[in-house]
Amino acid sequence: SGCSKKKEPVTDSAYMLGTHLNITIWTENEDEGKKVIKECFKRISEIEKKMSVNIKDSEINNINKNAGKEFVKVSAETSKVLNKALKYGEISNGAFDLTVGKFVKLWGIGTYNERIPSKSEIDDALKYVDYKLLKKDEKNGYKLDKEGMRIDLGGIAKGYAADEAYRILKSNGIENAVINLGGNIFTLGTRPDGEIWKIGIQDPFEPTGTYMGIVQFSDKAIVTSGNYERFFIKNNKRYHHIIDPKTGYPSENGIISTTIITNHSIDADALSTSVYILGVKKGLDLIEKLDDVECIIVTKNRKVYLSSGMKDKFKIKNNSFQIEN
Ligand code: FAD
Ligand code: MG
Ligand code: MG
Repeated sequence: SGCSKKKEPVTDSAYMLGTHLNITIWTENEDEGKKVIKECFKRISEIEKKMSVNIKDSEINNINKNAGKEFVKVSAETSKVLNKALKYGEISNGAFDLTVGKFVKLWGIGTYNERIPSKSEIDDALKYVDYKLLKKDEKNGYKLDKEGMRIDLGGIAKGYAADEAYRILKSNGIENAVINLGGNIFTLGTRPDGEIWKIGIQDPFEPTGTYMGIVQFSDKAIVTSGNYERFFIKNNKRYHHIIDPKTGYPSENGIISTTIITNHSIDADALSTSVYILGVKKGLDLIEKLDDVECIIVTKNRKVYLSSGMKDKFKIKNNSFQIEN
């Protein structure tokens, strides 16, 4: 009666995983809150050290360096992410492929080396992209079958990092929070006023922060993949970072963004990339088969496709987009 303090927002940002991270929590204790967010960032930095291809001696680069040579032992969590990535390779019929690294390097999208590779470079690289060639040995770890193959966890590890941040906040008794790891959103609990979180879905044609729709979910991971996140334009053509492993070129099937909403960010991340490549029909079929997974697909011609459980949870904000039934 009377002396409980009001919860106030505490927020902090960092730059890791090649992107902007922000965590906001609502708490009565600002100092404790700041500490908990720092703990999340520390955890994410540990994950980056193990799983980044941009860090020389990461566990993933150790596997890459030993491709065609020997098995490499990795930590339990890197193993967990690798196994999930392999699982999504199977589920998506190879649309999601963790061995896409050779293409990522060849195109260099988002780096100073971005360029359109030659047809023969693409044809050659195709021989080095196949998740089925990642061999697993209970005792000794992982081995890529061919020298020159490269794992790249850019399509899934940010999701794992968001799950870890969520776990840390929860275990510290946080009841209201929003985690944003470069567009991988995770809502925790409700808004401090008890209302359900409202999350904006980026308008793929407009600058960051312009929303084409709103979703309402609590305790869900919301992950978007889009052609507007990393790309370059050459001769009026856009080349983006989501590569179709079957062709070696940026995926082009009319989709320009996919958003997945589910319980764990690692699944949402892998599925947003998968559905982007699978296309509208196969993508929706896949999502309908999975429990507790919803999606929003936006196409170049401004059509919006929703999974069945999404219909009453998504509100369009910009009427130049049209919801298809
Ligand atoms: P998503 O759709 O989730 O994923 C696209 C990314 O997945 C691509 O960039 C590629 O990496 C990979 N990918 C492409 N096609 C496929 C496919 N068919 N199947 C599976 N995966 C595919 N960026 C930097 O600029 N500098 C860094 O130092 C850096 N370090 C990172 C470290 C880690 C551990 C992680 C997870 C990411 C890092 N990134 C870094 C960002 C990374 O390069 C990607 O750009 C980012 O993860 C893409 O996320 P997204 O949400 O935009 O797209
Ligand atoms: Mg994303
Ligand atoms: Mg992804």
